[in-house]
Amino acid sequence: MPRTCSICSHEHRDAMEDAFIAGMPKRRIASQHGVSERAVRYHMREHLPALLALARDAERAARADTLLDRMEGLQSRTLAILEATEETHDHRSALAAIQLNAEWRELRGVIVTALEPHPAARDSVLRALEGGT
Ligand SMILES: [Zn+2]
Repeated sequence: MPRTCSICSHEHRDAMEDAFIAGMPKRRIASQHGVSERAVRYHMREHLPALLALARDAERAARADTLLDRMEGLQSRTLAILEATEETHDHRSALAAIQLNAEWRELRGVIVTALEPHPAARDSVLRALEGGT
C-alpha cells in the first residue's frame, strides 16, 4: 500500500473521522465516501491518533486555567509578604518574598511557552496575568 493517504487529503476527512469515532463500521464509511475500506482502516490507525493527541493538548490548555489560579495565589502571597516587611524591615522575609516572586515569573514563562501552540488560550492567560493584582 502506498505511503500517501487518500483520506488525509479527502474533502470529507472530518466527516469520516467523526463517523469512525461515533462507531460507524469502516466498511460503511468507505462506501459512503467512495474510498476503500483499506484506506479508511489505514488512516484511522495511522493518522487519527495524532488528531486525538491534539484534542488532548486542547484539554491541557484548559487545565492551564487551574495552574493560573495557583500562580495568582503565589503572587498575592508574595505581595502580602512584601507589604508586611515594608513596615517591619524584615529583610530576610523580604528576600524570601522576592524569591517567591521569581518562582512565579518562572511559572509564568513556563505557561506562556506551553501555550505557544494555542494563541487564543495564551492571549487570554496573558490578559488575565496583566489584569491580575
Ligand atoms: Zn490519513
